[in-house]
Amino acid sequence: MSKHQFQTEVTQLLDLMIHSLYSNKEIFLRELISNASDALDKLNYLTLTDENYKNLNYQPRIDISVDKEAKTLTISDSGIGMNEEDLVENLGTIARSGTKSFIQNLSGDAKKDSSLIGQFGVGFYSAFMVASKIEVTTRKAGETDAFMWVSEAGAEYEITKAQKDTHGTSIKIYLKEDESEFLEFYRLEGIIKKYSNHIPFGIWMDKEETIYPEKEDEKPTKEIKNVQINKASALWRLSKNDVKDEEYKDFYKQLSHDSSDPLLWMHTKAEGTLEYATLFYIPSTPPMDLFRVDYQPGVKLYVKRVFITDDEKELLPIYLRFVRGIIDAEDLPLNVSREILQQNRILESIKKASVKKILGELKKLQEKDKEKYLTFYKNFGRVLKEGLYGDFENREALLDLVMFKSSKREGLITLKEYKEAMKEDQKSIYYITGENEALLKNSPLIEQFKAKDIEVLLLDEEVDPIVMPMVHEYDKTPIKPVNNSDIDEEIKEDKEETKQSEEKYQSILVKMKEILKDEAKDVKISSRLSDSPSVLIYDKNDPDFQMQQMLKQMGQDNLPKVKPILEINPKHEIFEKLLKENNATMLNDVAYLLMDQAKLAEGMKIEDISGFAKRLNKIISKAL
Ligand code: ADP
Repeated sequence: MSKHQFQTEVTQLLDLMIHSLYSNKEIFLRELISNASDALDKLNYLTLTDENYKNLNYQPRIDISVDKEAKTLTISDSGIGMNEEDLVENLGTIARSGTKSFIQNLSGDAKKDSSLIGQFGVGFYSAFMVASKIEVTTRKAGETDAFMWVSEAGAEYEITKAQKDTHGTSIKIYLKEDESEFLEFYRLEGIIKKYSNHIPFGIWMDKEETIYPEKEDEKPTKEIKNVQINKASALWRLSKNDVKDEEYKDFYKQLSHDSSDPLLWMHTKAEGTLEYATLFYIPSTPPMDLFRVDYQPGVKLYVKRVFITDDEKELLPIYLRFVRGIIDAEDLPLNVSREILQQNRILESIKKASVKKILGELKKLQEKDKEKYLTFYKNFGRVLKEGLYGDFENREALLDLVMFKSSKREGLITLKEYKEAMKEDQKSIYYITGENEALLKNSPLIEQFKAKDIEVLLLDEEVDPIVMPMVHEYDKTPIKPVNNSDIDEEIKEDKEETKQSEEKYQSILVKMKEILKDEAKDVKISSRLSDSPSVLIYDKNDPDFQMQQMLKQMGQDNLPKVKPILEINPKHEIFEKLLKENNATMLNDVAYLLMDQAKLAEGMKIEDISGFAKRLNKIISKAL
C-alpha cells in the first residue's frame, strides 16, 4: 500500500465538493459516465490501430450497480483503465490549467463558492458531492496488474494492489447518509436518460421486474433483468428531425462539462463527395481557459464513430476556440497520425466548410435575434476578432460579425450600421485605438471628427491594434485610423488657412522642433484639433503607440524607438501669446508641456515626471 498527498488544488476542490450546497448534485453521474465513455473511446481506437491491442477482447459497455445494504453505487467500464502511474497523475492532480487557476482563485468560503460548481468541468471529483468515500479499482488494457485507489477526501489517498480479471475501471461510491436517492433504479435511470442517452456506448443496469403468472391462484414473482438504459445512438449521427432540443442540450452538457444550456448549436450531415457529420455548440458562458495559451480544444474528432482525439487544436481555427462539438469523418483512415491530420486534405475541406457554417449561423443569429447575438458577442467577440488577423478567406464574413463602440452612439455597432449612417460625402470608415473608452472619447485626435459630426469607432480592446492594421476596407469602403499622418482630405480644414498658419508660426515651429528633437520626429500645424493645443500622430509607416505596446508584450524588446509627430493647434491662444512673448525659456517649457499633455491624452507615460512638475509649477506661479 502506498499513501499519497493530493495536489493542493485537489484538496481545495474536494473541500468544496464535500461541503457543497450545490443543488444539482446528480451531475456527478454524468461526469463519471462521460469519463467511462472517454475510456472506451480510447481503447476502441487502440484496438483498431495498434497491433498490440488487436487481439484484446473489446466489448464496450458501462455498467451501473447498487448495493442497498452497503449504500454503494458502482460505475464500471470496460475501457482503457489506469495503471498506478496514471492513477497518481489523473486522480491526484488537476491537469486542466483552466480548472486549476479557477480553484486557486476561490475565496476560501466553500459555501459561497459551491454555486460555481456547475460552471466548470468538475469531472471525477464531483462524486465527492455525494460520496463519503470512493474506491477506484482499475486495470490498464494490455497490463496484468490491477490497482485500487481509495480516498475519503481530505489531503491524502491510498493506492493498493488489487484483483481485477478484466481491463477497465470500476468506481465504487460510498454514498453519504442523506444521498440514498442514488440507490433507486428510477432515479438513476432518469439521470442517465437525461444526460447520457446519446453517448455512443450502452449503459446497463439491473432492473427488477414483476412476472405475473398465467394461472390466477399463483403469486407474481420477481425477476432481475439486466437492461440497457440509454439509446447509445451517437447523437451526431442521427438525423436532425429525430433529435429534440432538450436532447441536444443534454448532450452538450455531457460533452462539455458545462452545466448551462448552450447558446446555439448547428448540426450538419454532409453526403456526397465528402461524407461527414458535425455537431457544433456555442456555449452561453465562456470556458475558463479561453485566454490561456494552453487552452483545451473543444472539438473532438471521430472517424466512422470511432473517437480519434480531443486534443487537436487544428480542427478549427484558433479564433473559434470557444466552439464545442464533434467532427465525425467518414473517409479518413482510422490510424491517422497527428502529422497527417494537420495536412490531410479531407480534414482541411471539412474544416473549411465548418468555419463557413459556424460564421454563417452566427450571421443568421445576428440578423434574427440581436440580443442573443450580443450575449454571444460580449463573451466571444474578442476571440472572434483575432480571425481578422490571419483568415483572409473569411475576412468579409468576420467583418460582418465584429462590433465596435462608437463616438456617436451608445452600445456596440456593426460596420454595416456604421456605413448606413455615413454622411454622403464621407469616404472612409474611421477608428481610433487606445486603452479605454473614456480616453478615446476625449481624445484630441477625434475633435475635428466631432466638430464635423463624423462617427469614429472607439477600439479599446487589446487585439484591436494588432488586427485593425490588417483590415483595409469593408464592403469597398476604406477603413482608416484617425492618428495616421495620411488622413483623408475630407477631414482637413481649409488648406489655405493651414498654409497661412504655417507661415505665421514658422519661427515657433522651427524652435520647438529643435527643443523636442529627441522626442518628436516633427512639429507641425494641425488641422484636426479644435480645443486641445496639441496631439501626437504617427507617420504612415510607423507603428502607433498601441501597436508598439502590443509588440513589446509579445516579447519584441529591441524595437527601434519610434518618434511620434507633434501637431499643434494654431487656433489655440497659447500660440498667439507665445509669438508675442518671444521668450526662449518660456518656449522651452511650453514645448515640453505640450508634448507631455499630448502623451497623457494618448494613454502614454511621461518619463521625466519631475521635469514636468517643475515646468508646470513655474507656469502656475506665473499665472497667479
Ligand atoms: P477530465 O475527465 O476532465 O480529464 P477528470 O477529473 O474527470 O477530468 O478525470 C481525470 C482523468 O482521469 C481523466 O482525464 C482520465 O485520464 C482519468 N479517468 C477518469 N475516469 C476514468 C475511467 N473511468 N477510465 C480511465 N481513465 C479515467
